[in-house]
Amino acid sequence: MADSDASPKAPARKAKPGATKTRVAEGASAEGAAAKTVRKPAGRGADISAGAGAPKTRTPKTGSVSIKATKTSIAKTRASKAAAPAKAGAGVAVATRRKAEAAQPPIPYSPDAIAEIFRRFAVQRPHPTSELEHVNTFTLLVAVVLSAQMTDAGVNRATRGLFARASTPQAMAALGEDEIRQAIKTIGFFRTKAKNVQRLSEMLRDEHGGEVPRSREALEKLPGVGRKTANVIMNTAFGEETLAVDTHILRIGNRIKIAPGKTPEAVEEGFLRIIPEGFLRHAHHWLILHGRFVCKARKPDCEHCIIADLCQADEKWCDQPAPLIALPDAPPGPQPLPPGATRPGG
Ligand code: SF4
Repeated sequence: MADSDASPKAPARKAKPGATKTRVAEGASAEGAAAKTVRKPAGRGADISAGAGAPKTRTPKTGSVSIKATKTSIAKTRASKAAAPAKAGAGVAVATRRKAEAAQPPIPYSPDAIAEIFRRFAVQRPHPTSELEHVNTFTLLVAVVLSAQMTDAGVNRATRGLFARASTPQAMAALGEDEIRQAIKTIGFFRTKAKNVQRLSEMLRDEHGGEVPRSREALEKLPGVGRKTANVIMNTAFGEETLAVDTHILRIGNRIKIAPGKTPEAVEEGFLRIIPEGFLRHAHHWLILHGRFVCKARKPDCEHCIIADLCQADEKWCDQPAPLIALPDAPPGPQPLPPGATRPGG
């Protein structure tokens, strides 16, 4: 039974990145739940309600325009046309941006409510990280490539043995496609994935000096690496503020109406527009873990949700937020390093 009329009464609290409170007082920051509808958000960190009401301008009466006024008007029009080529690029950019903003559906959250949501995520998981086991940036890349259509646990079962034998591009390339395929045969699409791992290892060895490149462009040229995988690597390994939209983030964006969109790109764009400054670095993992363990696909576990009072999902069935307690890091501790392997940045 959905409870979409769950608007607590207490005033919203401002976001405090890095705040150390460990419990949400009942009804705290709850005004966000009664958030005013947000239209045409103007950009991340901006007052996204500001675009809702542009000042109206009067339309001048027509029918009594003087000749002088008409001449002035014509002169202005000619001057404007003459200047048009120089301004064409800027005009197209502005039009494109306005079109993109107009395409964004309104969201039922105030900026304060959004900030409070991410503040709580930050308190609950101060050090979120990938649950894919890896020992360096290269093995993280391989694990992410293998994780398509697979659970992290399933990938980890296969990669433990693989990474013990090969944790560098050179070693993986030398291992060969047949051996890689044999090692990951419990993973879906293992034949294609083994081929991709072999080829990307060769490319890293031959074209990047055995290092995983930092740029999106170079990453997306690697076999089996698309935008989502590149976003994960840029975020997890290199600390970039990117957001890789997987099935959990796609569901949350739409279910709770905070970043609705039909495609991963649309949801990514929506989240990037609203996530407040200071929270984007870890938003990817917070959202994935929230979707995996609480806002689950079949039935959301609203009773154990720390944003239940703020959430505007139709499927919500409990509006009392769970206690805000910092959880232990996951996975618990770093994995042991195979001989010769190094950790990212080390
Ligand atoms: S689990 Fe939380 S975020 Fe998901 S629908 Fe329930 S209250 Fe909303």
